[in-house]
Amino acid sequence: MNDEKKNKAVQDGFSRRSVLGFGSAALAAATFAGLTASAQERVSTQKAEHDHSSSDPGPENKALLDQNSNSNNPPPTDHGDLGPIWYSFDLVKKRVEEGGWTHEVTQRVLPSSKDIAGVQMRLTAGSYRELHWHTADEWAYVLYGNARVTVMNPDGTMFIGDVSEGDLWIFPAGYPHSIQGLGPDGTEFLLIFNQGLFSEDGTMLLSEWVAHTPPEVLAKNTGLDKSVFAQTPGAPLYIFPGNLPNSLEHDKAEIGGERVASKYQYTFRMRSMEPTKANKAGEVRVVDSHNFPASRHIAAALLIIKPGHMREMHWHPNASEWQYYIAGKGRMTVFFPVDNARTMDFSANDVGFVPTNAPHYVENTGDTDLVALEIFAAEEFMDVSLNQWLRRVPSEMLKAHLNIDKEMAMKIPAEKPELV
Ligand code: MN
Ligand code: MN
Repeated sequence: MNDEKKNKAVQDGFSRRSVLGFGSAALAAATFAGLTASAQERVSTQKAEHDHSSSDPGPENKALLDQNSNSNNPPPTDHGDLGPIWYSFDLVKKRVEEGGWTHEVTQRVLPSSKDIAGVQMRLTAGSYRELHWHTADEWAYVLYGNARVTVMNPDGTMFIGDVSEGDLWIFPAGYPHSIQGLGPDGTEFLLIFNQGLFSEDGTMLLSEWVAHTPPEVLAKNTGLDKSVFAQTPGAPLYIFPGNLPNSLEHDKAEIGGERVASKYQYTFRMRSMEPTKANKAGEVRVVDSHNFPASRHIAAALLIIKPGHMREMHWHPNASEWQYYIAGKGRMTVFFPVDNARTMDFSANDVGFVPTNAPHYVENTGDTDLVALEIFAAEEFMDVSLNQWLRRVPSEMLKAHLNIDKEMAMKIPAEKPELV
């Protein structure tokens, strides 16, 4: 590394870490050690730096390095290998159809995530995601615009609802459903499936089933003339353009009103609900089967973390965590025994993964709000707070383990703050 580049790297490290409020001595040590690629392995990082061990005179992808400084140049506390914890929707190919597109981050590209797969979809105004169903539950968060969803219960009652940015829906596995973009500019949303290898390309499509059934069987089943089915599409519709629907009231009345209306509510206004926790560090909104009973197998928390603050050090005893970053910049370190710790940077449209029980934090490293979803294939949102645990053990025990005396321990938040 030439001197100019090295100074720049030191300054970058300095300004980033000083924002986080490190003491100057710790800061200098951390910055210095962080500059050597194998700092965490070396006894003498000074010597390594002196002999330019971490110099990188070869080619660099500057755009990637700028976005992922912690990944490329980890803090000296990182060690070992705990498997991939990062991917981005901006790396996966889009399947574009007339009326919208879809792409997915599944276990195929993020092999650690065996319990959850994520999909993004865009539908322009009026366009449909074809009537279909599938083997996994579907949970969705609306990222943009407006949509109408329908889902039929096995007893024949029907739910029709409209959703906007920040709203959720849940469709239980096997329940037939549809999504349609509304005005003025359709919609974009994140879909979560509780199967790591789920693919949006592998769903049961109405058009495909019809195409694979002998016309005389279709005629016998429906009581319609066989000629009707000569006009049905031979190829899957999947995503296709359509006209904007009638009003919600009109559609509900047309199908039979209250008589056929679902007893269950399949949509939920997550972004506009009262925060579950709020303090000067930000807001957390938790939605699981307690407040959204239809969502029996997927739980989530929406985080808004203010600049300089973080989601506290914690872990989840009941499920792995699949994260989606909506806005801002952050970094996360995940620890897992034996001796593995990995730090990565996350930006809008990135996906994060945390194994079940693996402790982690998420820190806002930008100068705008960090907005992210924590999603779990679980009935209930559940987390364990390090701070709370440290305050619950008797002071002699804490002194024996971490050499923190009672007076000091009293400064640690005793009630789980979620954000600090
Ligand atoms: Mn679906
Ligand atoms: Mn978490």
